[in-house]
Amino acid sequence: MRHCCKFKPDDIYYLGETNLYIYRMFTIGFCPICGKPVAEIYQVRFDGVPERFSWSGIEANDAMTKYSDEILYSMKEVNYRKFKSKPFGWKYGVNRSYKNNRTGKEVVRQYACDFYGNKELIKTF
Ligand SMILES: [Zn+2]
Repeated sequence: MRHCCKFKPDDIYYLGETNLYIYRMFTIGFCPICGKPVAEIYQVRFDGVPERFSWSGIEANDAMTKYSDEILYSMKEVNYRKFKSKPFGWKYGVNRSYKNNRTGKEVVRQYACDFYGNKELIKTF
């Protein structure tokens, strides 16, 4: 992000797609030089043209309020979920089969996995 200098955002929010924009990201942070809150939106239009707007101070607050109900998830949330090791976001199924040593029967375990390396056992059959 950029204000008086370039700095890392405090959090990144992924926004839902609209008819016009296919990729949307909203970042917030505080300028390390003047301390003002800064908000930035980066979105890619359906025809591939990227657009970027930024706001600072009270306007950053207004922008945050404006886009808050379009937020799908945030980077911090993803990291938190990663820590909790529960699958998050787009999940895909994985089946693992193995032989139960006690009964000698084949057991299939179905897992839900996500793209952040988390997996969760859904069912065993
Ligand atoms: Zn600044």
